[in-house]
Amino acid sequence: MSELVITDLRASVGDKEILKGVSLTIRSGEVHAVMGPNGSGKSTLSHVITGRPGYTVTGGSVLLDGVELLELSAWERARAGLFLAMQYPTEVPGVSLEAMLSAAAVAAGRDASGVAAAIAHEAETIGFEAKLIDRALNVDLSGGEKKRNETIQLGVLAPKIAVLDEIDSGLDVDAMRAVTRRIEQATNADEPLGVLAITHYKRLFEELEPDAVHVFADGVIQKSGGAELAAELEDTGYGEWVDPNVAVDDGPSAFDDPFGDTTFADRLNLHEG
Ligand code: ADP
Ligand code: MG
Repeated sequence: MSELVITDLRASVGDKEILKGVSLTIRSGEVHAVMGPNGSGKSTLSHVITGRPGYTVTGGSVLLDGVELLELSAWERARAGLFLAMQYPTEVPGVSLEAMLSAAAVAAGRDASGVAAAIAHEAETIGFEAKLIDRALNVDLSGGEKKRNETIQLGVLAPKIAVLDEIDSGLDVDAMRAVTRRIEQATNADEPLGVLAITHYKRLFEELEPDAVHVFADGVIQKSGGAELAAELEDTGYGEWVDPNVAVDDGPSAFDDPFGDTTFADRLNLHEG
């Protein structure tokens, strides 16, 4: 059994404090939903946990089974068993899913010979067209296809803890069901996955059952509850936690430069040329 323990996590971008003391514990098999308004820092939380560059951690800790992740590179965190499905998955020209997952297997000291079969199996499970598998990572895939692609990665990599940042965005109802069903299945596997799922919509939780729902606003968890809180939030919105006088940033921002990100492939130096 694994445990991700986030304690009083604080982080800034430039001189702007975004995370203002986040504490949250996720154990194997548990699904924690984080819901909150745009611009509240949800993606920042996922990026800081997984070690994306560009953020300054100013306090707190993130322990995975007692190991301080904040001292590790993003790549080392992945190897320790952490997985991030990004809100805006990065396109990696020249690198196939199989090349990336094979390299990850080798780096983790595992045999890569079963990777192609595992990808095919995962793709079938979630209804991802076989011909899309051979495309360079995320290149020319629709938003929904990218999310399915990430779910395949999750299935093959079998991480301990997954951070899913709006994995539902861009998915139609059928794709959503397939993806969330696969993730729910992973949380019930022999070595169950622990999940931190960031979303706006309770529909994510039709197949994926949350053990806890957290309202995230202004850089902190404002309130925690059970699954019923997700439905409540969708009905009432986040007005209670949003200061109407503060302008909110929405959507992919200028800093979401895909080439500024270190993806798995970047870390593995898989780029051609
Ligand atoms: P959410 O995912 O909840 O919509 P984000 O974590 O994307 O929120 O953003 C929280 C705040 O931090 C926003 O005001 C956003 O503009 C700012 N921010 C996020 N990343 C960066 C960055 N790399 N540089 C500057 N500001 C950033
Ligand atoms: Mg976000």
